[in-house]
Amino acid sequence: MRLPKHGLAEGDLFATLEKYREQDMPWRDGRTWAYIYDPGPEAEAVIKRAFTMYLTENGLDPTVFPSAMHMENDVIGVAVDLLHGDDQVVGSFTSGGTESIFCAVKAARDWARERRPEVTSPEILLPETGHASFQKAAHYLGLEPVVVPVDPVTFLAEPGRMREAITPNTIMMVGSAISYAHGVVDPIPELGALAEETGVWLHVDGCMGGFMLHFLQRIGVDIPDYDFRVPGVSSISMDYHKYAFAAKGASVVLYRNRDLRRHQMYACSNWTGYTVINTTVQSTKSAGPIAASWAVLNHFGDDGYMAIARTVWAMTEKLVAGIASIPALRVLGRPQMNMLSFTSDEVSVFHIADEMKERGWFVQPQLAYGSSPENLHLSINPNSERWADDLIADLRECVEKARQLPSGELAVKIKEAFSHVDAASVTPEVFEGMLGMAGVTGTALPGRMAEINEVLNALPVPLRERLLVEYLNELYQPSS
Ligand SMILES: *Cc1c(COP(=O)(O)O)cnc(C)c1O
Repeated sequence: MRLPKHGLAEGDLFATLEKYREQDMPWRDGRTWAYIYDPGPEAEAVIKRAFTMYLTENGLDPTVFPSAMHMENDVIGVAVDLLHGDDQVVGSFTSGGTESIFCAVKAARDWARERRPEVTSPEILLPETGHASFQKAAHYLGLEPVVVPVDPVTFLAEPGRMREAITPNTIMMVGSAISYAHGVVDPIPELGALAEETGVWLHVDGCMGGFMLHFLQRIGVDIPDYDFRVPGVSSISMDYHKYAFAAKGASVVLYRNRDLRRHQMYACSNWTGYTVINTTVQSTKSAGPIAASWAVLNHFGDDGYMAIARTVWAMTEKLVAGIASIPALRVLGRPQMNMLSFTSDEVSVFHIADEMKERGWFVQPQLAYGSSPENLHLSINPNSERWADDLIADLRECVEKARQLPSGELAVKIKEAFSHVDAASVTPEVFEGMLGMAGVTGTALPGRMAEINEVLNALPVPLRERLLVEYLNELYQPSS
């Protein structure tokens, strides 16, 4: 695009934006089963109004916009209460789970620099189900990630293996409540005991589960304690923009006490401009996401979220039973929240995803890693309740369709050719060729993804990551 010589009329401008949106999954119809957290149109209107009301206010300076700090303290108060913190627990509002996790990893790193100065190459211990953002934070912040296998049947972290992986360099370890891939809660009480015994900082990743687990536990779902009730937990992240249904750009990170949070804060007056004092990574920030979080929490209230928890748990049980009734499919682990994944030992799950997409559904492919086979993931929304039976019926048919489709020839060839190749020695041109063979060329997004997913699934992890980087680097091009 180039700037238009004269500004466009409002009607034309929005017509174009509407047209762009036609390329997207029409998520409001309730058939997009990942990336979207949708409580329905009534709440959406409230969230939008609050977001735009505070769109321009700047959360950077609490002395000029105390409203932003006031709303932040309110939504942190709710988080402390839901996660059973005492009056010592404090927190910060951030733009998302990744930023919350960055903040916690930075705090743990700087805390260790002060308390354990002898550690010069700090390590962070992650179950293989731990979210990628911990590895991203480690990559940015100079920590070494150490990935520990999980139980291959339950997909839960194994405290015994975590213990074995602790070294004199371990400063932090992670448990998930829940882990994104399989929707299960790690044994946080055992990990907390290990943290207390060893002096390692334990972070509970409640980005996905922290909020909804509170209500699911209260309606009687079998969930071990996962929050500040557990001794040894130092920090917890929890996203409001997932199953609290806030607008995107909303998460919180909580610390057991102020002494721990201090290491997250940043101040700089070592330049000519205004003094920079930042609680989190962002500096200038819209107060919109904080206002939208404040609004949605007050819109639903405790009984509203309890009702949602009952709805989504009933849907989860129905979907687990429905998937189990399709002989070619099996659910992975025992979901403890309204997310699940399933695999097939007979049919390519990537073909199933493509077939489902042709029928208007989005189900999310996940690649094989460690103990977990390639699978399809469902994030379950209250606004999709009416679709549960249709989803299962279409899955049943798509499994049969997928069975007819050829699979794996290119993936097998690429696997053979690249199993002993060092990622660093492969040129961008080779990756481009690989993408081309899988039907991915230029900046056009491929319709069917099975072939590229199979190739990715077959490649060793370092090559997989390089291929994805090359792909992204191709995909984002300025339009003329
Ligand atoms: C979504 C998620 C994150 C990362 O959050 P973003 O908001 O996508 O940055 C971290 N951990 C878990 C378990 C998640 O589901």
